[in-house]
Amino acid sequence: MSTTTDLQLTDDLRRRMHRLYRELHAHPELSMQEHATAALLEQRLAALGIENFRCGGTGVVGVLRNGEGPTVAFRADTDGLPLAEDTGLDYASTATGHLEDGTEVPLMHGCGHDTHVAVLLTVAELLAGAREAWAGTVVLVFQPGEETGAGAKAMLADGLWDKAPVPEIVFGQHVMPALAGTIRYTVGDALTMAVSWKVTVHGKGAHASQPQDATDPIVLGAHMITRIQTIVSREIDARRAAVVTVATFHGGLKENIIPASAELTLNVRTIDPATRDKVLAALRRIISAEATASGAPEPTIEVLSTFPRTYNDPEATTALVERFRQVLGEDDVVEVEPVTASEDFGALGAAIGVPSVFWMFGGHDGAVLEGEGPVPVNHSPFFAPAIEPTLSTGVRTALTAILSRVGG
Ligand SMILES: [Zn+2]
Ligand SMILES: [Zn+2]
Repeated sequence: MSTTTDLQLTDDLRRRMHRLYRELHAHPELSMQEHATAALLEQRLAALGIENFRCGGTGVVGVLRNGEGPTVAFRADTDGLPLAEDTGLDYASTATGHLEDGTEVPLMHGCGHDTHVAVLLTVAELLAGAREAWAGTVVLVFQPGEETGAGAKAMLADGLWDKAPVPEIVFGQHVMPALAGTIRYTVGDALTMAVSWKVTVHGKGAHASQPQDATDPIVLGAHMITRIQTIVSREIDARRAAVVTVATFHGGLKENIIPASAELTLNVRTIDPATRDKVLAALRRIISAEATASGAPEPTIEVLSTFPRTYNDPEATTALVERFRQVLGEDDVVEVEPVTASEDFGALGAAIGVPSVFWMFGGHDGAVLEGEGPVPVNHSPFFAPAIEPTLSTGVRTALTAILSRVGG
């Protein structure tokens, strides 16, 4: 059986990984606009002799074939965030981009997806250079658009698993604000699912002095928002986690005009699908019934984004963390409760009914974690992972996962 010891990072490869990481960090791109990143990936994979293809616009898939054996997929997400970097690093981003509406925004790899890309490309180079150490097929999924929940959907809609060999399992990892060199994992449901809606409340406009001629969408929307607060407190089993947040409420332009419509956006997080379905059904019922109570037409619901379940197959996860413990040591592999963040990673395995395992690797050194100030988290303008041992640990865990299937 092969282990990661057969595939060691040389000083030269480690240096090149660091250079690649700094280059990626300095050049973040918005979700589904990762054009330069995709071009870089295509060029690097081709230079390693790894067949590759575009998928879902700015997604890139590398297929590393090495004879008979199992097929395993590993996913790295590639997008940055519309966020002004304030890390003070000499490789900090000064890049800008444009949102869909044309607004110019600063860009930052504020979620650390640059670590994921640098790690997976390095793993690809190691595997391509040590074909005697393994047998089978490794599918390298460089996925765009994680932050908006659009990327995994786009790759699947573009026929990811028709174009790439179907794997027996999909692996993925994410950098987080914990001690570099350590990892965190959860068996079963690991992250929350998420749904965001825009609800347009239709009323009837009138002069503010003549409410009898109006159907006031402000009063109606306010009742809707208040009633929505009772879903979690009155309808959901206390043993099930759920969050419903109405994050925006906009209507009207002037104090003496009752507007014809109002808009609210809301965000739902749950750990399990049954609770999500129950919350969404309650939302639809309340939104519709409050409109009826006001004599207003049926409101319009637009789905802004959805994030699927992130479910770590218990058997596969338990077997993998056992290997992680052998590689990293008992103390550096920590089981944690589900986290209330969301990911679209789970869609890739769910689409073909194969298990997946997703874990977190630490990105901070001890001085940052034990220092005076708040610890910079993902999506903070100060989020600056320590390059080492973060990246080398990411390489070791990714290799350990991949070789657990194709290592002979
Ligand atoms: Zn993020
Ligand atoms: Zn992320």
